[in-house]
Amino acid sequence: MGMDILQNCEVTGVRSENGQVTGVDTSRGFIGTKKLGMVVAGHSGQLAEMAGFRLPIEAVALQALVSEPIKPCMDVVVMANTVHGYMSQSDKGEMVIGGGTDGFNNYTQRGSFHHIEETLRALVETFPMISRLKMLRQWGGIVDMTGDRSPLISKTPLGNCFIPGSGWAMAELMAKGEPGPLAEAFNMWRFKEGQFIDESVAAGVAH
Ligand SMILES: Cc1cc2nc3c(=O)[nH]c(=O)nc-3n(C[C@H](O)[C@H](O)[C@H](O)COP(=O)(O)OP(=O)(O)OC[C@H]3O[C@@H](n4cnc5c(N)ncnc54)[C@H](O)[C@@H]3O)c2cc1C
Repeated sequence: MGMDILQNCEVTGVRSENGQVTGVDTSRGFIGTKKLGMVVAGHSGQLAEMAGFRLPIEAVALQALVSEPIKPCMDVVVMANTVHGYMSQSDKGEMVIGGGTDGFNNYTQRGSFHHIEETLRALVETFPMISRLKMLRQWGGIVDMTGDRSPLISKTPLGNCFIPGSGWAMAELMAKGEPGPLAEAFNMWRFKEGQFIDESVAAGVAH
Protein backbone atom coordinates (compact mmCIF):
# COMPACT_ATOMS: atom_id res chain seq x y z
CA MET A 1 0.00 0.00 0.00
CA GLY A 2 2.99 2.30 -0.51
CA MET A 3 3.97 2.36 3.15
CA ASP A 4 7.41 1.61 4.64
CA ILE A 5 7.95 0.41 8.20
CA LEU A 6 11.46 1.14 9.46
CA GLN A 7 12.33 -0.88 12.53
CA ASN A 8 14.99 0.14 15.07
CA CYS A 9 14.79 3.70 13.84
CA GLU A 10 14.61 6.30 16.60
CA VAL A 11 13.32 9.78 15.96
CA THR A 12 15.82 12.17 17.53
CA GLY A 13 14.54 15.51 16.28
CA VAL A 14 11.70 17.21 14.43
CA ARG A 15 12.52 19.83 11.81
CA SER A 16 10.24 22.64 10.71
CA GLU A 17 10.21 25.73 8.52
CA ASN A 18 7.84 28.68 8.87
CA GLY A 19 5.78 26.78 11.47
CA GLN A 20 5.29 23.73 9.21
CA VAL A 21 6.88 20.34 9.78
CA THR A 22 9.48 19.42 7.16
CA GLY A 23 10.91 16.15 8.47
CA VAL A 24 12.41 14.10 11.25
CA ASP A 25 16.00 13.36 12.20
CA THR A 26 16.42 9.69 13.03
CA SER A 27 19.14 7.27 14.07
CA ARG A 28 19.14 6.22 10.39
CA GLY A 29 19.25 9.66 8.89
CA PHE A 30 16.90 12.48 7.94
CA ILE A 31 13.42 11.68 6.61
CA GLY A 32 11.60 14.53 4.92
CA THR A 33 7.82 14.74 5.23
CA LYS A 34 4.96 17.15 4.71
CA LYS A 35 2.86 15.52 7.44
CA LEU A 36 3.81 13.91 10.75
CA GLY A 37 1.67 11.74 13.06
CA MET A 38 3.05 11.07 16.53
CA VAL A 39 2.08 7.60 17.74
CA VAL A 40 4.73 6.89 20.37
CA ALA A 41 2.39 6.17 23.30
CA GLY A 42 4.28 6.87 26.56
CA HIS A 43 6.87 9.05 24.83
CA SER A 44 4.48 11.63 23.33
CA GLY A 45 5.79 14.32 25.67
CA GLN A 46 9.36 13.78 24.50
CA LEU A 47 8.40 13.88 20.83
CA ALA A 48 6.33 17.00 21.39
CA GLU A 49 9.31 18.65 23.04
CA MET A 50 11.39 17.89 19.93
CA ALA A 51 8.64 19.53 17.88
CA GLY A 52 8.70 22.60 20.13
CA PHE A 53 5.43 22.35 22.05
CA ARG A 54 4.07 20.87 25.28
CA LEU A 55 1.19 18.43 25.59
CA PRO A 56 -1.42 18.41 28.38
CA ILE A 57 -0.35 14.94 29.52
CA GLU A 58 1.58 13.25 32.31
CA ALA A 59 3.73 10.16 31.74
CA VAL A 60 3.37 7.59 34.51
CA ALA A 61 4.28 3.95 34.99
CA LEU A 62 1.52 1.33 34.93
CA GLN A 63 2.18 -2.26 35.82
CA ALA A 64 0.40 -5.60 35.53
CA LEU A 65 0.77 -9.05 37.11
CA VAL A 66 0.05 -12.54 35.88
CA SER A 67 -0.55 -15.51 38.16
CA GLU A 68 0.12 -19.19 37.68
CA PRO A 69 -2.60 -20.80 35.53
CA ILE A 70 -5.70 -22.18 37.24
CA LYS A 71 -8.91 -23.79 36.05
CA PRO A 72 -11.47 -21.46 34.41
CA CYS A 73 -13.21 -19.35 37.05
CA MET A 74 -13.80 -15.93 35.46
CA ASP A 75 -15.09 -15.12 31.96
CA VAL A 76 -15.38 -11.34 32.37
CA VAL A 77 -13.09 -8.51 33.41
CA VAL A 78 -13.91 -7.40 36.94
CA MET A 79 -13.13 -3.78 37.81
CA ALA A 80 -13.27 -2.84 41.48
CA ASN A 81 -12.73 0.90 41.56
CA THR A 82 -13.59 1.20 45.24
CA VAL A 83 -10.63 -0.98 46.23
CA HIS A 84 -8.67 -0.13 43.05
CA GLY A 85 -7.91 -3.30 41.16
CA TYR A 86 -9.00 -5.24 38.08
CA MET A 87 -8.71 -8.86 37.11
CA SER A 88 -9.51 -11.19 34.22
CA GLN A 89 -8.49 -14.70 33.22
CA SER A 90 -6.47 -15.43 30.10
CA ASP A 91 -7.19 -18.36 27.79
CA LYS A 92 -4.17 -20.08 29.34
CA GLY A 93 -5.80 -19.84 32.79
CA GLU A 94 -3.54 -17.13 34.23
CA MET A 95 -5.22 -14.42 36.27
CA VAL A 96 -4.28 -11.07 34.70
CA ILE A 97 -4.20 -8.40 37.37
CA GLY A 98 -3.80 -4.64 37.32
CA GLY A 99 -4.33 -1.64 39.54
CA GLY A 100 -3.48 2.03 39.60
CA THR A 101 -0.64 3.89 37.98
CA ASP A 102 2.28 5.21 39.98
CA GLY A 103 1.31 8.44 41.67
CA PHE A 104 4.33 10.32 40.33
CA ASN A 105 5.80 10.92 36.87
CA ASN A 106 8.48 8.48 35.77
CA TYR A 107 9.82 6.48 32.83
CA THR A 108 11.05 3.43 34.77
CA GLN A 109 8.91 0.83 32.92
CA ARG A 110 8.91 -1.20 36.14
CA GLY A 111 6.27 0.20 38.45
CA SER A 112 6.55 0.64 42.20
CA PHE A 113 6.44 -2.20 44.70
CA HIS A 114 3.77 -0.58 46.83
CA HIS A 115 1.33 -0.91 43.92
CA ILE A 116 1.83 -4.66 43.77
CA GLU A 117 1.02 -4.87 47.47
CA GLU A 118 -1.89 -2.47 47.22
CA THR A 119 -3.42 -4.12 44.14
CA LEU A 120 -3.18 -7.62 45.57
CA ARG A 121 -4.59 -6.45 48.91
CA ALA A 122 -7.54 -4.97 47.05
CA LEU A 123 -8.19 -8.08 44.99
CA VAL A 124 -7.76 -10.52 47.89
CA GLU A 125 -10.39 -8.46 49.70
CA THR A 126 -12.68 -8.80 46.66
CA PHE A 127 -11.83 -12.44 45.82
CA PRO A 128 -10.40 -14.22 48.92
CA MET A 129 -9.77 -17.33 46.78
CA ILE A 130 -6.79 -15.68 45.06
CA SER A 131 -4.84 -15.31 48.32
CA ARG A 132 -2.97 -18.58 47.69
CA LEU A 133 -2.09 -17.87 44.06
CA LYS A 134 1.54 -17.53 43.10
CA MET A 135 2.40 -14.66 40.78
CA LEU A 136 4.38 -15.72 37.71
CA ARG A 137 5.51 -12.37 36.39
CA GLN A 138 5.09 -8.64 36.60
CA TRP A 139 5.85 -5.92 34.07
CA GLY A 140 5.46 -2.22 33.66
CA GLY A 141 5.17 0.32 30.86
CA ILE A 142 4.57 4.01 30.44
CA VAL A 143 1.15 5.50 29.87
CA ASP A 144 0.45 9.08 28.88
CA MET A 145 -2.49 10.30 30.93
CA THR A 146 -4.61 13.34 30.15
CA GLY A 147 -6.31 15.22 32.97
CA ASP A 148 -9.78 14.07 31.90
CA ARG A 149 -8.68 10.51 30.93
CA SER A 150 -9.95 10.97 27.36
CA PRO A 151 -7.63 10.69 24.35
CA LEU A 152 -6.05 13.46 22.33
CA ILE A 153 -6.90 13.43 18.62
CA SER A 154 -5.60 16.75 17.58
CA LYS A 155 -3.77 19.20 15.39
CA THR A 156 -0.79 20.67 17.23
CA PRO A 157 0.91 24.08 17.37
CA LEU A 158 3.30 22.80 14.64
CA GLY A 159 1.63 22.86 11.22
CA ASN A 160 0.85 19.43 9.71
CA CYS A 161 2.00 17.63 12.86
CA PHE A 162 -0.74 15.53 14.50
CA ILE A 163 -1.15 13.66 17.76
CA PRO A 164 -3.26 10.49 18.09
CA GLY A 165 -5.96 8.96 19.15
CA SER A 166 -6.11 6.14 16.79
CA GLY A 167 -7.28 4.54 13.59
CA TRP A 168 -9.85 6.12 11.30
CA ALA A 169 -10.29 9.32 13.30
CA MET A 170 -6.55 10.03 13.14
CA ALA A 171 -6.36 9.06 9.46
CA GLU A 172 -9.18 11.48 8.61
CA LEU A 173 -7.53 14.25 10.63
CA MET A 174 -4.18 13.77 8.89
CA ALA A 175 -5.64 13.42 5.39
CA LYS A 176 -7.90 16.48 5.63
CA GLY A 177 -5.83 18.52 8.08
CA GLU A 178 -9.05 19.12 10.04
CA PRO A 179 -10.83 16.77 12.48
CA GLY A 180 -14.05 14.96 11.57
CA PRO A 181 -17.09 15.20 13.89
CA LEU A 182 -15.88 12.23 15.97
CA ALA A 183 -12.44 13.67 16.67
CA GLU A 184 -13.29 17.35 17.00
CA ALA A 185 -13.93 17.47 20.74
CA PHE A 186 -10.71 15.61 21.54
CA ASN A 187 -8.35 18.41 20.54
CA MET A 188 -5.47 19.32 22.87
CA TRP A 189 -6.76 22.85 23.51
CA ARG A 190 -9.76 21.56 25.48
CA PHE A 191 -7.63 21.81 28.63
CA LYS A 192 -7.01 25.51 27.94
CA GLU A 193 -10.68 26.14 27.24
CA GLY A 194 -12.09 24.01 30.08
CA GLN A 195 -13.99 21.76 27.64
CA PHE A 196 -13.08 18.51 29.41
CA ILE A 197 -14.51 15.16 28.36
CA ASP A 198 -14.44 13.59 31.79
CA GLU A 199 -14.12 9.83 31.42
CA SER A 200 -12.14 9.07 34.56
CA VAL A 201 -15.06 7.27 36.20
CA ALA A 202 -16.29 5.56 33.02
CA ALA A 203 -12.78 4.57 31.84
CA GLY A 204 -12.16 0.87 31.30
CA VAL A 205 -9.33 0.90 33.85
CA ALA A 206 -8.96 1.92 37.45
CA HIS A 207 -6.50 4.77 36.87
C1 LIG B 1 1.26 -2.80 32.26
C2 LIG B 1 0.29 -2.43 31.18
C3 LIG B 1 -0.84 -3.18 31.00
C4 LIG B 1 -1.76 -2.86 30.00
N1 LIG B 1 -2.85 -3.66 29.86
C5 LIG B 1 -3.74 -3.38 28.88
C6 LIG B 1 -4.87 -4.22 28.69
O1 LIG B 1 -5.08 -5.21 29.40
N2 LIG B 1 -5.74 -3.90 27.70
C7 LIG B 1 -5.53 -2.81 26.88
O2 LIG B 1 -6.33 -2.57 25.97
N3 LIG B 1 -4.46 -2.01 27.03
C8 LIG B 1 -3.56 -2.27 28.00
N4 LIG B 1 -2.48 -1.45 28.17
C9 LIG B 1 -2.34 -0.29 27.28
C10 LIG B 1 -1.77 -0.70 25.91
O3 LIG B 1 -0.65 -1.53 26.09
C11 LIG B 1 -1.39 0.56 25.13
O4 LIG B 1 -2.47 1.45 25.08
C12 LIG B 1 -0.97 0.21 23.69
O5 LIG B 1 0.07 -0.72 23.70
C13 LIG B 1 -0.52 1.47 22.97
O6 LIG B 1 -0.22 1.12 21.64
P1 LIG B 1 0.51 2.13 20.73
O7 LIG B 1 0.74 1.47 19.40
O8 LIG B 1 -0.19 3.45 20.74
O9 LIG B 1 1.91 2.38 21.46
P2 LIG B 1 3.10 1.37 21.76
O10 LIG B 1 2.71 -0.05 21.51
O11 LIG B 1 3.70 1.73 23.07
O12 LIG B 1 4.10 1.78 20.58
C14 LIG B 1 4.78 3.04 20.61
C15 LIG B 1 6.10 2.81 19.92
O13 LIG B 1 6.77 4.06 19.75
C16 LIG B 1 8.15 3.81 19.88
N5 LIG B 1 8.87 5.06 20.15
C17 LIG B 1 8.92 5.81 21.30
N6 LIG B 1 9.72 6.86 21.14
C18 LIG B 1 10.20 6.81 19.86
C19 LIG B 1 11.10 7.62 19.10
N7 LIG B 1 11.68 8.72 19.60
N8 LIG B 1 11.38 7.24 17.82
C20 LIG B 1 10.80 6.14 17.28
N9 LIG B 1 9.94 5.31 17.95
C21 LIG B 1 9.66 5.66 19.23
C22 LIG B 1 8.26 2.80 21.03
O14 LIG B 1 9.48 2.13 20.99
C23 LIG B 1 7.06 1.90 20.73
O15 LIG B 1 7.42 0.82 19.93
C24 LIG B 1 -1.54 -1.75 29.16
C25 LIG B 1 -0.39 -0.97 29.34
C26 LIG B 1 0.52 -1.30 30.35
C27 LIG B 1 1.76 -0.46 30.51
